[in-house]
Amino acid sequence: MRLTVIGTGYLGATHAAAMAELGFEVLGVDVDPAKIEALGRGELPFYEPGLPELLRKHTASGRLRFTTSMEKAGAFGDVHFIAVGTPQKAGEAAADMTYVDAAVAGIAAAATRDSLIVGKSTVPVGSARRLKEIAEEYAPAGIHLDFAWNPEFLREGFAVEDTLRPDRLVVGTDSRTADQTLRRVYASALTRGTPYISTDFETAELVKVAANAFLATKISFINAFAEVTETVGGDIQTLADAIGHDARIGRRFLNAGVGFGGGCLPKDIRALQARIGELGLDKTMRFLNEVDEINMRRRDRVVFLAEQLLGDLADKRIAVLGTSFKPDSDDVRDSPALDIAGRLYGGGAEVLVYDPKANENSAKRFPRLTYVDSIEEAVQDVDVVLLLTEWQEFKDMKPGDLEAFVGSRQIVDGRNVLDRVDWENAGWTFRGLGLKVPEVVSART
Ligand code: NAD
Repeated sequence: MRLTVIGTGYLGATHAAAMAELGFEVLGVDVDPAKIEALGRGELPFYEPGLPELLRKHTASGRLRFTTSMEKAGAFGDVHFIAVGTPQKAGEAAADMTYVDAAVAGIAAAATRDSLIVGKSTVPVGSARRLKEIAEEYAPAGIHLDFAWNPEFLREGFAVEDTLRPDRLVVGTDSRTADQTLRRVYASALTRGTPYISTDFETAELVKVAANAFLATKISFINAFAEVTETVGGDIQTLADAIGHDARIGRRFLNAGVGFGGGCLPKDIRALQARIGELGLDKTMRFLNEVDEINMRRRDRVVFLAEQLLGDLADKRIAVLGTSFKPDSDDVRDSPALDIAGRLYGGGAEVLVYDPKANENSAKRFPRLTYVDSIEEAVQDVDVVLLLTEWQEFKDMKPGDLEAFVGSRQIVDGRNVLDRVDWENAGWTFRGLGLKVPEVVSART
């Protein structure tokens, strides 16, 4: 069986390399020639642990190749995975489906034999049925195309592991043949006992957005309580630990901090609300508005804490440690950390930024920040240090590591990963999300 993966970004490049690792002949397809050339040379155009090795291994073996030609893909593949982007539409909450529509129409028109199209992108419910019709419309006469939706749950930073060893597989289809084909594609996971959920299109589409909506809600839930402890006192981490012991709740995704970001959760909860609204169920997902707003307020809070420590941002020097939306990724799409850095700059501060992997991507979006290559350079003579993405090297920082460099011993821990007592004992003014600051109470009343 030969596979194509259409769209070779974070999801598609990982899927293509992982499928080659599983033994398939794979052709990756993208409209971006620079990306395709780099991938073809075995060079990954983004950061994802473990993926460069897999890419090099299989471009070298010849099992994994790349092209910009849909015609080649149509002639090559028995199964075509669609992994193109579904970003938020400019100025709207809804998902932009133009890339998926073009990819499905393109591969359907290029198919030279009966084959299976499998959507992996995250799409609004109802899309798969519509796209199946597009595929049928574009398929050359005499060619039969099956259709399935197989949403992807990989996490950036763990993408290779998640793709090779998923915790579940969800397949929505109305075709027995499609289901059987995908069981063969995922045979190694099925042999290990990975749950395989075979369902209809709508359920498959909804599983993905429901999972993301739940995770986003969990993060905003604890961040809402962080707003409470900021006012009444208390320890948000202890609160999270204590409720997390309840197996029905669980501790994961209950870390108070600057909130969620990235190329998925923010746009997915907005697209879900938009889609459910279109269906006339306006009130049903209204709570996601709150989830989004709580999330965005965390950014305001960090800016507020910085202003409070500095009096005024103008002409102050601020170190921002971390701009990727999460550690072990260079993805800065909708990153809370980068947004905060930009706002501080907008307030008149000089912002020195260090991210272990995301400086380059950050500079494309915010070229006016000052990008440096180490913690020491970032904190040089600064008035305050902000830890905004919990990379391991930031979690490992001790007050003594910074003291020779900083201008003032002031730090904001945006991720609740530092030991406050250690820093305060070393003479630092420490601020954190979920921590009460006496002045804040009076400022609000
Ligand atoms: P991305 O922007 O990194 O990659 C999308 C790729 O598609 C780009 O390389 C783009 O050039 C290419 N493309 C666009 N139109 C094309 C076309 N017509 N033909 C061929 N290629 C085309 O996006 P991503 O993060 O990989 O996300 C892709 C989809 O997967 C989205 O729907 C996203 O929500 C979903 N998803 C992403 C992740 C993740 O962690 N990144 C996880 C699960 C699901």
